[in-house]
Parts: sequence; structure tokens; C-alpha cells
Amino acid sequence: MKLYNQLTKKVENFKPQDPENVKIYTCGPTVYSFAHIGNLTSYVYWDLLVRTLKANGYKVNRVLNLTDVGHLTSDGDDGEDKLEKGAKREGKTVWEIADFYIDTFLKDFRSLNLEEPSKICRATDYIDQDIKLVNLLTEKGYTYETSDGIYFDTSKFEKYADFAGLNLEEQKAGARVAFNSEKQNNSDFAVWKFVREGEDHAMQWDYLGRPGYPGWHLECSTISATELGLPLDIHTGGIDHIPVHHTNEIAQSEAAFDVQMSRFWLHCNFITIDGEKISKSLGNIYTLSDLEEKGFTPLDFKLWVLQGHYQGTRNFNFEDLTAAKNRLLKWRNRAAKSYQISSKDSISVQILEKVSNNLNSPEAFALIDNTDLSFADWKFIDDLFGLNLIPDLENLPKNLDSLIEERERARSEKNFAVADRIRDELAESNLTILDTENGPIWQYLR
Ligand code: AMP
Ligand code: ZN
Repeated sequence: MKLYNQLTKKVENFKPQDPENVKIYTCGPTVYSFAHIGNLTSYVYWDLLVRTLKANGYKVNRVLNLTDVGHLTSDGDDGEDKLEKGAKREGKTVWEIADFYIDTFLKDFRSLNLEEPSKICRATDYIDQDIKLVNLLTEKGYTYETSDGIYFDTSKFEKYADFAGLNLEEQKAGARVAFNSEKQNNSDFAVWKFVREGEDHAMQWDYLGRPGYPGWHLECSTISATELGLPLDIHTGGIDHIPVHHTNEIAQSEAAFDVQMSRFWLHCNFITIDGEKISKSLGNIYTLSDLEEKGFTPLDFKLWVLQGHYQGTRNFNFEDLTAAKNRLLKWRNRAAKSYQISSKDSISVQILEKVSNNLNSPEAFALIDNTDLSFADWKFIDDLFGLNLIPDLENLPKNLDSLIEERERARSEKNFAVADRIRDELAESNLTILDTENGPIWQYLR
């Protein structure tokens, strides 16, 4: 398999440390509001990654975290904790907010037919490990204390700028005005925040004799080391994570544990909607339920995502979603046709080659569109993309074959009343009959 690696900035051959235990860590959502289709895009691509690894014979061990504390509205060390903000907005406790949005996120996850991670971890279950990590960093001389927290001194981590190709000099000059005067370098980040006097922060733990909470990046360092062990094989996230979150995860983990954090780092690009950034002020934040209200299923959306490469910029609009919906129906009916009329060519190997080349789903899709496929191919494709393409044989009408025969007979006898009645009856089961050169076959209507 080949994957683009942010560490080396090139497409490289991927070989796991242990094919029976490919360790993948995915940065999960901050659970303070509904996931929008931009957030969900990233998980669709990581599902493709996992399925492609499995199709190549690997066993995947994947951890996903849920951020239920410490992610501030600025992505840096300022602003309000997103969970606290959600709690105020809805008049609930932070714990209720986290529980509610974890639940809705997992529902979205399942309705997109995404493979369950081996383990899903909540940040607040790892506070003891967080504190140990901060202690370790402090013992090794990587931290300093300010009035609002414990900070990581990025000047002590030599390769800090490498991962994202940061220009720290430029950052310094640009940030002079907004510079937190207690920070020693602009890029330094909090590993632990103190709850300040009068500050309303419901989630807090005692450390160094005062209340506080972990810095946002800390959870990923502790959870990945605790649950998978370093180095990871692959760490995934959105491109927004490259310059701050992942850069900081690497600094903390590698400084504390003296081991490479992850051998591969994959990032998916951002989607825009009608050419605009997804934002509340533009009113273009769509959730899966919004799409469903407009008549689109989660899998229509999933197919739309996979039509584009994970590293490309994607623009979402409803015309393209409609096209994806039509493509999905077409594929389902081709799968149904191949079930009824066998075709022997198998091109599964070529499809796997396409996705194994840095997850090139668009090229795999073009191959699917342009090739006559066997039922075995469709099963393979369905395992690879998780689009529910294979007919649900259990739920087909029991008398389907005899209805099709009866319709044939009625038509040959020019008994159109009977033929029409059968057509209407099948339509109630979302089915229709297509006449092919090999005889009539059933197809899905929607
Ligand atoms: P958050 O819950 O804000 O931490 O985001 C969850 C994931 O969604 C992160 O991996 C982000 O990189 C990703 N994400 C957020 N907005 C978009 C977008 N417009 N397109 C693609 N991915 C996004
Ligand atoms: Zn993370």
C-alpha cells in the first residue's frame, strides 16, 4: 500500500510494524454540538483507510478519542472551553452535553456505515495519565509555569517546526500584538490550564494544589500511548490539525517518551459548501438530519465524499449530492442485476490497486462505472466502501420470482390489467421490472 506521509511530505510505501496489529489513532470530535458534514467527511475517509488495510490482509487496531474537555474556542490556549460553551447555550451540565453529543455522533457514525473503532476513548477518562505526562515533561525540563497554566517550551523541542513546515520567526513577528506576554515563545502551548479565580469551569481536577484541566492536545498523547503504544503506525486527522494540534502532540509525546509518535500521518482536506467555508454565520452548517430532511440518505452523502480524493479540496452542493444519490442507486441496481444474471469477469484486484494507491477512491469509482462487474466484484466493492450495495435478499418479497413469471405470462397474453397490477404491487416493495436481453430482472426504484 502507498500512503502520503506528512512526516516526509511524500507518498511512501506503507508497511506496518505488525500486520496483525496495525495501530491507528484518529483524532475524534469535540462533543459540544452536532457533527456537521465537514466533520463527518474526515471519518468517511478514515473508514476507507481502515477498509483498504483490511482488504490488503492487515488486522487493524484503531482508537478514536472523544474530546469532552479542554478544547478552547481558539484552538490555542485562549477562549472558552467548547464544552462549557455548549452547556451554557443549552442550560445543561457539561457532562450532559458530552453524553448527548457523543450519542448523536455515534449514531451518525453508524448511519454512515463506518466500521467501529476497536476502542473509543473519552478524554476525561485519562486525567491521571495526563497528569503523569505533565509531570514527566516537567521532570525533563520541557515545561514552565505561568499564571494561567503549565506551558510546553517549544524552543526545547528541536524539530518543532518540521512537521508543518512552520516559519517560527515569521510567527513571532506577526504575533507581537496578540502575544500572551507570559509565554516564552509564541508557539508554546498549554499542557495544563489552571482554573482562574472567578472563572466558571465545571470540569476541573486538582493538580499542584489547585483546580485545573488538561490542555487540548494532551489527551491524544496519553490515549495513544496508553491504548496502542508508540510508535503508532498511522495517525489521522484534518489538515487543520497539522500546524497546531498534531505538531503539539508530536512535541509532547516524543519529548516525554523518547520514541517516534507515529510512522505515518494522514490528513484529509476541508470541504466547502457552495464555495464557502462551513460556518454558523453563513448558515451553511448541515448535519446528516438536514440532508435527510431534503431526501438524501447518509450513504448518498458517503458516496459523495468518496467521489473525491481525501487530499483534494471538495466543494459540496446539492446538485452533486443528487448526482451521487443517482450513482448509488445505479450501482445498487447493477449489483442486483449481476446477482440475477451472472457475469464472470472479476476486477476486484484492480479496484484494490486503485485504493491502495494513497486511497484513490475517485479512480476506483471510474473503473467501477466503466466495467461490467460480477456479483463477487460488487460484494468486494461493498466491503471496501461500505455503501450497502448488495441486495437485501431477506427482505425481497417471497413470491418475487413467481410475480415476475406471472407478469411475463400476462404480457404475452396481452393481459395488461394483470401486468399493471403486478407492477403496482412490486412498486410498493420499492421494486420494478427491467426487461433485458436475458429476460426480465428486478431493480430498485429508489
Ligand atoms: P472538531 O470536532 O471540530 O474537532 O472536528 C472534527 C474533525 O472534523 C477534525 O478532524 C477536523 O479536521 C474535521 N473538519 C472540520 N471541519 C471540516 C471541513 N469543513 N471539512 C473537512 N473536515 C473538517
Ligand atoms: Zn488529536
